[in-house]
Amino acid sequence: MPLDSLRLRQDFPILARQINGKPLIYFDNAASSQKPKQVVETMLHYYYHSHANVHRGAHTLSVEATDLYEAARGKLARFINAPEAESVIFTRNTTEAMNLIAYSWGMENLKAGDEIIIDYAEHHANIVPWHFVAAKTGAVIKAIKLGRDFRLDMTDFEALLSKRTRVVSVAHMSNVLGVIHPIKSLAQKAHDAGAIMIADGAQAAPHVKVDVQDLGVDFYTLSGHKMCGPTGAGALWGKAELLRGMPPFLGGGEMIRKVAIDTSSYADIPNRFEAGTPNIAEAIALGAAADYLESIGMDAIFEHDQELTRYALERLKTLEGLELYGPEGDDRGGIIPFNIKGVHPHDVATALDQEGIAIRAGHHCAQPLMKHLGVQSTARASFYFYNSFAEVDKFVEVVAKTRDFFAQFA
Ligand code: PLP
Repeated sequence: MPLDSLRLRQDFPILARQINGKPLIYFDNAASSQKPKQVVETMLHYYYHSHANVHRGAHTLSVEATDLYEAARGKLARFINAPEAESVIFTRNTTEAMNLIAYSWGMENLKAGDEIIIDYAEHHANIVPWHFVAAKTGAVIKAIKLGRDFRLDMTDFEALLSKRTRVVSVAHMSNVLGVIHPIKSLAQKAHDAGAIMIADGAQAAPHVKVDVQDLGVDFYTLSGHKMCGPTGAGALWGKAELLRGMPPFLGGGEMIRKVAIDTSSYADIPNRFEAGTPNIAEAIALGAAADYLESIGMDAIFEHDQELTRYALERLKTLEGLELYGPEGDDRGGIIPFNIKGVHPHDVATALDQEGIAIRAGHHCAQPLMKHLGVQSTARASFYFYNSFAEVDKFVEVVAKTRDFFAQFA
């Protein structure tokens, strides 16, 4: 059933704001989504009624806080169809989750000459951690080319795969092009070559129904703040047998079994990877965000994203002087990168902001992709379930007005 974006908007007080005297149109969801009352109230309720440190005290509040924290882990496990809750590790965000894999799995398992395959559309969070690993281990990074249609060139991928390939790490959805990458097929091919498969779910988890078992990946990462949750809570899911074979990433309280002055042994998962006091309130609120999204329905959310995107692209394509990037088709989520010829994307974003429209402009933490596209930067509009067709109409009108305004100076 189609979702009712106008009703759902009522859950988001911020969406009633005026910006520069105009109703806010929030099209910067790929950077961070807004938060519904249900999530913020969960956090408030936790702080007002149940806060204490987790996994430590024998007192009632600590037990209550621990139960809420562990229940949130269970909710997230259900959200991505993880086979067991303990294979979900709370992190601050996707960046921390990717670094955890790179340091803990990568440093331990890679050696000189081993190969890590990423692609040209990756976010820096799935590039830079591999630079650290490559510098320390002598492993080599290779990148899958993009086809003319902005999709991964699967022939190039197969040519890159070899018995030296140990890791394939690709975003489930590109944060710039909106392409949903064929993770299931990449995972099968990676496994056939003897490599592990990592999917960066920062963009996909908020918008697409994720089933880590069906995708066949070894690791999956996500950021709570992009899926209606608070900042400071994200997650890493990993196959339990892989996680159990990995050394800890951070040392300290909570992640140990026994400590002596000169040695320590480590706790089982998930605690092994959650050293110190975690972001308890944020993790609990992330669990509430997963419940909230499930109550709307991930299929309905994705359908709405796609309908808005198709509609926006149809309208934007009629505007002369606009450059649009990304494929068209069912493998495209709600992200539209574009440029107005001859106008810097920052000027475009500023002009749109004057009309209350929030978009992102820049390299989107994807400099290799910008180089591949032959641009310095782009503007980017990104949608969520609370956005409407009327907002897209206003956006297209203001983009056209901005193009005409700058054309005077060309
Ligand atoms: N990966 C992708 C595909 C992203 O879009 C982002 C953020 O935009 C990240 C990783 C990093 O997310 P975070 O900044 O929440 O760690």
